[in-house]
Amino acid sequence: METSTIDKIKKKASRLFENQLLLSGSVLEVRKWEPCTMIEIDLHLPFADIAQWTDVPYIKIKVNDFTYRDYTPSCWDAETRTCSLFIDAAHKGPGSEWAQQLKKGDAINYLKIKPTHQAPVGTPAIIALGDESSLGHLLALQQMVLPATRFSGAILMADEQHRGLFREYFRSPLQAIARNDIYGHHSLIQWVIEQQYTLDNTVFYVTGNDTMVIQLRKMLRQQGYASGQIKAQGFWS
Ligand SMILES: Cc1cc2nc3c(=O)[nH]c(=O)nc-3n(C[C@H](O)[C@H](O)[C@H](O)COP(=O)(O)OP(=O)(O)OC[C@H]3O[C@@H](n4cnc5c(N)ncnc54)[C@H](O)[C@@H]3O)c2cc1C
Repeated sequence: METSTIDKIKKKASRLFENQLLLSGSVLEVRKWEPCTMIEIDLHLPFADIAQWTDVPYIKIKVNDFTYRDYTPSCWDAETRTCSLFIDAAHKGPGSEWAQQLKKGDAINYLKIKPTHQAPVGTPAIIALGDESSLGHLLALQQMVLPATRFSGAILMADEQHRGLFREYFRSPLQAIARNDIYGHHSLIQWVIEQQYTLDNTVFYVTGNDTMVIQLRKMLRQQGYASGQIKAQGFWS
């Protein structure tokens, strides 16, 4: 049999298998933050058991044929089974392209929703730090921290308009700060040092690009924080 025919059969079999595993949802609204590189997507996920989310979750979304990307559901309402995604689409990639073309009423498919194992611990100060790709993750963490006064931190945003929109749209103790270096670790490290956090009872949650996460973790360890006080997860490299 010709290779192209075998490939076609393989693809068909994979598609059949994939379709059996996929769950669906629908797009309720799409908001593009000018200059359109941050895309906020409201979703209805009728098959998601949102009431069971005890860690910050992630969702593996089908963004193209046999292509999946991880995003963070946040700002959820368990009763209506709705949530929002915040997709940093300033770079080129199948995930960015998928987010850019989405519109109200579209169907979406996803493979699974799983915990990230980032859940708020019972300490007086929870400090969340991240870049644009972790906006959803930081907002999800904020939603989980009770009482809310325990929560603060900073989100890197390269675009000045985005920083303004963040302050306008959200009642959040997170500070939107400028990203003055490619990966943002220099900007965040400077910001953390200025805060003069105490060594005791402070737990950091760091998410975003790998370079930033690694460098921030290194700096916090040098400052004397124990590894159990730093919950770090790299999102992309
Ligand atoms: C648990 C988890 C949760 C996540 N939640 C979110 C979320 O809520 N929102 C979100 O935007 N991202 C989130 N991410 C990150 C996202 O999955 C990756 O950024 C993914 O690579 C984007 O896919 P893509 O197809 O757009 O780019 P890819 O095809 O994967 O990458 C193309 C190129 O772009 C670079 N790149 C990838 N992401 C970025 C970025 N954000 N900025 C600049 N360059 C980049 C890559 O290094 C590569 O060179 C999450 C990741 C994980 C692991």
